[in-house]
Amino acid sequence: MAETLQKMAEETPKSDEGRRFEEFFQEVMRHELAELAEQYPQQRSLSIDFQKLVLFDHKLADGLLERPDHFLKVAEEALEGLQFPTAVGSLKAHVRFRNLDEDRVIMVQNLGAQHLDKFIAVEGIISLATEIKPVIKRAHFECLHCGLKSYTFPEKNILKTPDYCRCGRKDFKHLDKEDEFVNMQNAQMQDLVEKLKGNSPTSHISLWVEDDLVNQVAPGEKFLVTGILRKRPVTKDRKQTSVYEKLLEIWHLERSEKEFEELEVTAEEEAELVALSKRTDLFETIVKSIAPSIYGYPEMKLAIALQMFGGNTDKILPDGKRVRGEIHALLIGDPGTAKTATLQYASRLAPKCIYVSGKGTSGVGLTASAEKDEFGEGWVLKAGALVLASGGQVAVDELDKMTEDDRSAMHEALESGTISIAKAGIVTRFNARTSVLAAANPKLGRFNPAEPPANQFEIPPTLLSRFDLVFPIKDVLDEVQDSKVAEHILKGHRASLGSDQEKMDISPEISIEKLRKYIAYARRNFSPVLTLEASAKIKEYYLRLRKMGMKQNYYPVTARQIEGLIRLAEASAKARFSKHVMMIDADRAITLTEYVLRTVFMDRETGRIDSDIINIGQPKSKIDRARTVLEIIEDKERDVDMVSVEEVVKEAESLGIEEKKAREILDQLHKQAEIFRPKSGFVRTSRKRRD
Ligand code: ADP
Ligand code: MG
Repeated sequence: MAETLQKMAEETPKSDEGRRFEEFFQEVMRHELAELAEQYPQQRSLSIDFQKLVLFDHKLADGLLERPDHFLKVAEEALEGLQFPTAVGSLKAHVRFRNLDEDRVIMVQNLGAQHLDKFIAVEGIISLATEIKPVIKRAHFECLHCGLKSYTFPEKNILKTPDYCRCGRKDFKHLDKEDEFVNMQNAQMQDLVEKLKGNSPTSHISLWVEDDLVNQVAPGEKFLVTGILRKRPVTKDRKQTSVYEKLLEIWHLERSEKEFEELEVTAEEEAELVALSKRTDLFETIVKSIAPSIYGYPEMKLAIALQMFGGNTDKILPDGKRVRGEIHALLIGDPGTAKTATLQYASRLAPKCIYVSGKGTSGVGLTASAEKDEFGEGWVLKAGALVLASGGQVAVDELDKMTEDDRSAMHEALESGTISIAKAGIVTRFNARTSVLAAANPKLGRFNPAEPPANQFEIPPTLLSRFDLVFPIKDVLDEVQDSKVAEHILKGHRASLGSDQEKMDISPEISIEKLRKYIAYARRNFSPVLTLEASAKIKEYYLRLRKMGMKQNYYPVTARQIEGLIRLAEASAKARFSKHVMMIDADRAITLTEYVLRTVFMDRETGRIDSDIINIGQPKSKIDRARTVLEIIEDKERDVDMVSVEEVVKEAESLGIEEKKAREILDQLHKQAEIFRPKSGFVRTSRKRRD
């Protein structure tokens, strides 16, 4: 048994506990120790399954949980006391226990006084990480009176001078050249998004990571850690307050790959979900179960449902290109059309979702950042909502209220599922495979009914084109509709007072919990494959749109829409628990896309569907008109220094552009800096022609 390990001659009497740990190492951990001995000192941690200690001696295990400082020290000393026949001698290694019982895994939001100085586990997502820094492991001091040297161990970031010297005095000089250092890294962890139901506020816990554990955590990654909860004094106006900060001293960390907990489905539940998937009115039922208190909008609700199921994750094409599986949707509508209500409902329903409002959300809060840390020396990497919810969803309200910079930070995340940071020598990339459900108001806050909605989006076209589906929601005066909405809202309020039958109409047919489970189950178990028929159908639809455009010298649909169609069709197949994307799925995707194209892209002036609106920013006809006006000015400029606005307008009219339009175009051109106004009533192009 102890052929390879021999006890070192005992000089000091060992405690029972120390002896038990020795026995534990020799009897249970022999293989691991032999490996460690071989790799030492490059490897200086012994990772131990806590359950093995429980089996070996549950009293020892209990002691470790309750008094970790004492027991971990004893364990490390016991380890050091073991001798190896190989050259290394004794092992000064960390003992790192993992795999505590479920009830020792505490949520960040519940960490409190009762856990102080206890051995616990926490599972969460890293929201912030600093660079590594040297920290004093042992600080050395010299007595100013008798010259005796002594040392102290700093308690986390607080350096302690010795209390008294042996000579009885207490004046010391810090011998900083003799201090021993170890690497340290700070990080922050928060609860997993999927575990926080609804919109409960997120709590954070600071992590203290030391020695060989540094540089293993990065923002956006999930970890299961074990450690000891410490308190750190807070000072205010140089006085210590009675409130302390929490700090988790990490003893072991491992990546956690566990999926949403909704996936813990019992056999009985599974049968129920499968039965639901077989219903012929499946989609109607799902749509009815999404935000039932909100009247109407069946297409929008279908889109939200499909978005939650999502396309197949991460297709990597043979040439290495990644095609995203996330479906992004945008609601643009008049105020008071239940956009916010819809987003909030969606964030309660989705298995993993963060709701943010554009007002007051910084780009950092949404994406990610590298910032100087509080001491202004190192860097801190911070993960925002899109990173923290990776694999899930973010609901972004008031998208139009965000600053330009913040919105532009979303571009990369939406298309490639990553967020890159390149700043002052820091180059890093976060995963952000997050689907986005956003809401915005149109330009001027409200739709002008006389204009096509597409002209009234105030979202930059580059961002707009990344949304697979864009829903304009107009608040139109319609007595029949209005009375239905009113009746529906009133019913909801009556039902909330606990009355009768009316509750039935408002409560979802599939409960939120069940639907969430259904979605999580579908996402996890199905990656439907496109059948030839469905591919053909999508291709045919795409070609039809293209051809319709070709005939009119148009390119109404771009290739982006094909990918969008495939994603929607895949989501539809997943929702049916199907292994194959069939014709019906293609049909569902096409019907929804067609609905969106008709409502959004319809250019009222020509009656054509024109996705150039989305991809370039305005209808082709408008581009043509702007070019015409510009050409008129350029033409006249050849003879004069500046051109009279009245003349331009008159000439434009003769070419079929009405006066009002022509003046609008001039304003537009002026805004775009294509032309300028040397004096009131006159214009000139910015680029002087040379011919
Ligand atoms: P928005 O964000 O679009 O400005 P809100 O979501 O804040 O609008 O909606 C305002 C209120 O009107 C909410 O309480 C919402 O429930 C209600 N409401 C608006 N439209 C409907 C509808 N179609 N059905 C039920 N309630 C509605
Ligand atoms: Mg709103």
